[in-house]
Amino acid sequence: MIKGSVYKSMLRAMALGGTIALLFCIPAFAAKSLGYVDSGPGVGLYEDVSNENTASDASTAGTGAQGTDMTSDAAASQGAEGSNAIDPSLLPDIEISYAAFVHGGSWSLDTPDHTVVKAPTGGYLTAFRAYLKGVPEGMDLGVSYAVNLSGSWWLPESSNGGENGGPGGDAPLEGVRFWLTGADAANYDICYRVLQNGTWTDWVRNGETAGTVSAAIWIEGFAASVVKKGAEPPQMEERAVDPSRPMIALTFDDGPSASVTGRILNSLEQNGGRATFFVVGSRVSSNAPTILRAWQLGCEIGNHTYGHKYISKIGADGIRNELGSTNQLIASVTGVSPVLMRPPGGFYDSASLSVVGELGMSAIMWSIDTRDWQHRNAQKTIDTVLSQVKDGDIILMHDLYNASADAAEYLIPELTRRGFQLVTVSELAAYRGGLQPGHIYSRFR
Ligand code: ZN
Repeated sequence: MIKGSVYKSMLRAMALGGTIALLFCIPAFAAKSLGYVDSGPGVGLYEDVSNENTASDASTAGTGAQGTDMTSDAAASQGAEGSNAIDPSLLPDIEISYAAFVHGGSWSLDTPDHTVVKAPTGGYLTAFRAYLKGVPEGMDLGVSYAVNLSGSWWLPESSNGGENGGPGGDAPLEGVRFWLTGADAANYDICYRVLQNGTWTDWVRNGETAGTVSAAIWIEGFAASVVKKGAEPPQMEERAVDPSRPMIALTFDDGPSASVTGRILNSLEQNGGRATFFVVGSRVSSNAPTILRAWQLGCEIGNHTYGHKYISKIGADGIRNELGSTNQLIASVTGVSPVLMRPPGGFYDSASLSVVGELGMSAIMWSIDTRDWQHRNAQKTIDTVLSQVKDGDIILMHDLYNASADAAEYLIPELTRRGFQLVTVSELAAYRGGLQPGHIYSRFR
């Protein structure tokens, strides 16, 4: 019997390897040999393997706590201690997600593994927070980090989502150290680099210092990646949004569906665009690989209720059930619970919005309605969008119909060519006034 969250991690690992098909025909004995299934009551194979590696945990944690420089030798010795390490090809892929506080601004959005987070030109970062994604149940792995804050030297470490630095203050960061914690740290490296004086440092890993400290130069940008022990980090990706350029949010409701959503994702991937998918909860489990792929491409997953229910008609408990169950299903795939919902049919009232707000969510409408679900005519959808589109628009489409995918495949490159940045709703909001729970938005200008 494969545990729920362990299963999802396998799914994630398989999806990353592009071998999803294998997952569904993997025999029980093979799954067991991967180390992700219970070998008896309460005993996972993961624990059996990782218990041998506690020494590396202690040495890693100690380094951070004392704030001393970790030498390359010390970093290298962690690898040597992994003599009981699992065959790397059987290990799940783990990712780090991080946010930085931009001086004079706010926290950045959570930034995916090996993706650049950067202050505007001339600016600098003042704080970090980070956490790991994709850690299966039974694996003992976390992340800790410490920053060298101008005027304060190295601060005490923070771990697993805690803030480190001086968010909201004026002191710039000069150096950072990240390291993995827990018994399974022996099987992975954390690699990171910083942008100083307009130049990226080399990658360093496992507690080494990135950045030149005490030289009056500040950290302007950052990227990090968790890799299997000894592996090279993937190529860095830039997904910085330029706030001075036009941006719009394409949104797709009522899906996902493997074929239509898949075509839209292909086009987004080819054009460096992102979109927001307001998914119906009842379709999440059967389309988990599609949702995971969208998430990994930087798209946003929003909540369109479990059963496409009109929230103005189902009462407070009905809304809590419909949105809560769908949030849980989505979080079980992506690891993150949505903060956006779209009212099915566009129906809402003040009472239903206040329940949405209680759940910490905002409601998102649209400023361009393609009515693609009704006419199923790609050219009509294209004409509707191109004749109206302006900076800050939220465009409504549906990823259930081939005609909608036909339109998206034309619109995504064409809108990009016309200078529109295709961003998620949360990204659009972040650059244009922000989101508040319980409020409803139809555009961000
Ligand atoms: Zn709908």
